[in-house]
Amino acid sequence: MDGGDRDPSGALAAADRRAAAAGQPSGRADHVMLPADLAPVDGYCPIRPLGAKCAGGNSPQSDHSRPENSPDILSRPDCYPEIRPRSRSVRVLAALALAPPLRLAVARYAVPAGVAARTGCDRCGTALGLGGAALGPAARCPACRARVGAPPGSVEVILGVALAVLVLVDATLAERAAIAWWLGWAVPLLLVDLAVHRLPDPLTRPATVGVLALLGVAAATGPGINPWWRALAAGAGLGLAFAATTLLLGRRGFGLGDAKLAVGVGALLGWYGWPVLLAGLVLTFASSAVASLGLLLARKVNWSSHLPFGPFLVLGTCAALLLAR
Ligand SMILES: [Zn+2]
Repeated sequence: MDGGDRDPSGALAAADRRAAAAGQPSGRADHVMLPADLAPVDGYCPIRPLGAKCAGGNSPQSDHSRPENSPDILSRPDCYPEIRPRSRSVRVLAALALAPPLRLAVARYAVPAGVAARTGCDRCGTALGLGGAALGPAARCPACRARVGAPPGSVEVILGVALAVLVLVDATLAERAAIAWWLGWAVPLLLVDLAVHRLPDPLTRPATVGVLALLGVAAATGPGINPWWRALAAGAGLGLAFAATTLLLGRRGFGLGDAKLAVGVGALLGWYGWPVLLAGLVLTFASSAVASLGLLLARKVNWSSHLPFGPFLVLGTCAALLLAR
């Protein structure tokens, strides 16, 4: 069958016309028969694009795969998880609630190497804490109005992009939990790296450990141990490759923080397969090269400048996750 035969709107419109010609009210669920080639194949949803997997009822034996129930798929929300308004607003509220702790993480760890994590406003010393105005989108100290931490609105915008990635990625619940966990640490890591060219251990360590643990849960509840071993091998291999450049090239290589972030990246992409890992690396290095070239041409940097690599690693990982499957 070709893709055109799977056009749901055309097929259903034709079914409606046949129903109308037979004197049957169109839209009655039990009167509309889908063509046989619209039936799901190997658990793939018949009304989503060819190759797209239905979020619910993945089994060909599920109730909405039977022709007599087929019109039900039009009203089954699990075939359209991304457009359920209530679910979407819950996600947006959850993301907004996450912004202050992420902003706190950026403010605490965006300090030069060897300097203790920031605990208060640089100008007046007012303590940073959840609920403080310094952790709002305006990023101002409540006492002296000095700028604190990440630029105004930056955490909120990047968190929104991360949320979009989480919604759009094709993943099981356990895989999505692993991606959500990693993104939760990747957002402050990206901003800290941009600010001070560092990827601190207190942020990279939980990101990596949590991803490996949650992928273990995904393995236990899904495809078994093999993809988890592959994720582990990919994470270890990528981390060691990045660390080797530090040892061989010194400051011209990647930083050890990049190597630690790369372990989680390798695990997450390796879970989906070696081609996804390769795609993530290609996208990471390509975006880094394009950005470097643009900054060189704009004379914002010179050949000896050191650009943070973490943001490109996060960007390439997100793009590869969206392309996976
Ligand atoms: Zn202050």
